Amino acid sequence: MNRQRMDIAIVGGGMVGLAQAALLAVRHPQLQVALLEASAEVAPVPADQYDPRVVALTQSSRELLDEVGAWGEFGGGRACPYTEMRVWDAEGTGSVRFNSRDVQLPNLGHIVENSVVVSALRRRLEALPNVELVNGFRLETWWRDCGLWHLQPRSDRINVIEGLEENGEILRTRLLIGADGARSRVRDLLRIRARETVYNQTALVCVARCEKTHGHTAWQRFLKTGPLAFLPLAGLGDENHCAVVWSADEALARELVMLDDNAFALNLEKAFESRLGGVESVSERFSFPLRARHAESYYGPGAVLIGDAAHSIHPLAGQGVNLGLQDVTVLSEEIARALKRGLEPSDPSVLARYQRRRRGDNAATLKAMSTFKSLFGAGDLHWRWLRNTGLSMVDASPLLKKRIILRAMAV
Ligand SMILES: Cc1cc2nc3c(=O)[nH]c(=O)nc-3n(C[C@H](O)[C@H](O)[C@H](O)COP(=O)(O)OP(=O)(O)OC[C@H]3O[C@@H](n4cnc5c(N)ncnc54)[C@H](O)[C@@H]3O)c2cc1C
Repeated sequence: MNRQRMDIAIVGGGMVGLAQAALLAVRHPQLQVALLEASAEVAPVPADQYDPRVVALTQSSRELLDEVGAWGEFGGGRACPYTEMRVWDAEGTGSVRFNSRDVQLPNLGHIVENSVVVSALRRRLEALPNVELVNGFRLETWWRDCGLWHLQPRSDRINVIEGLEENGEILRTRLLIGADGARSRVRDLLRIRARETVYNQTALVCVARCEKTHGHTAWQRFLKTGPLAFLPLAGLGDENHCAVVWSADEALARELVMLDDNAFALNLEKAFESRLGGVESVSERFSFPLRARHAESYYGPGAVLIGDAAHSIHPLAGQGVNLGLQDVTVLSEEIARALKRGLEPSDPSVLARYQRRRRGDNAATLKAMSTFKSLFGAGDLHWRWLRNTGLSMVDASPLLKKRIILRAMAV
């Protein structure tokens, strides 16, 4: 493959960038695609323990991963289907139960560890002849000349990346796709501003082993200090492990981080009302400060943003990566349309169409998440009554439930 000049270069090898590279390569064998990832090495999937970072993948995300051949690569049954979702308010009696039977489907989605998805996609890319996966390439500088982007990694990496010589060989591409996450360098280099909402919350994630089996149910309790989710895991021989995502106000999060494992497990069990019996053990904890960001534009000259580089949201509805995978599908459709009409994929009209199809949808989800977050964080009687009544009304209305499930599954 000619490294000097690619048709498309994707910066960022997270789930979204990898899926984008795979989908373009599978649908357009004539295109030369490069995937540039900053990390030199990617941690393998641990065989005997769960990765605490997980995603809840919808049916349409599954279809995309199926199309590129990654879903079948997960192995070991590590995609855990969930058939029920239970949501309840810590400050009242309101609760709602969604079941896949409500929509006559076998499940509502799957919980999968991030590292399982990333490894499967990387394996697929390695097998595709028209994709080059370049590890250890942290995009630092660039310039555009005669319609070509010239991409250069951080200078101390140049001589350690296989094939990039000390003289600073650079990658050239007509279309650049920024999939480099919430603090996107591509977005900065394009001088695109992002609107930011700071939630003053931190998400603590870990894996908990519970006394009772999870019952293939995704559980979420809304506390005044933030939502607490227990998400079912599978693949290591039992049904007692859950991925925990505890989004908590900063002060509480700081206290929780300081606790030893036993004290943390006790706090976790209490906050979860012992719904799965005792929390018998917890893994190492990781924390993520939470903020929403939305890029004011999704494209610049010959460059476009997807995934968290374009939008990042509160994890309370577990939609972040699903939205990113929708971007992948729509951008691929627009590129296919352009190629059919003899247009360059980097043509501004192509990128504008992608933005038109995705930005409104993403903005609506961002707004909904912020509203949920405020509604469930409000402590006064009026709001408490409103949300508890709302939850109970939804629970009592099969039609409303069906609509909500189908809407969430379409993402
Ligand atoms: C606690 C928590 C729980 C979540 N739970 C869910 C869930 O249940 N469901 C869901 O859908 N989403 C969930 N999300 C959101 C989801 O994890 C993100 O939306 C998703 O990981 C974004 O993927 P991405 O590929 O766009 O970005 P990232 O995963 O951030 O990947 C970006 C990649 O770009 C690379 N990179 C960065 N800068 C450069 C550079 N200059 N040059 C080259 N490479 C670079 C990075 O190394 C990284 O590999 C959760 C998020 C959090 C924090």
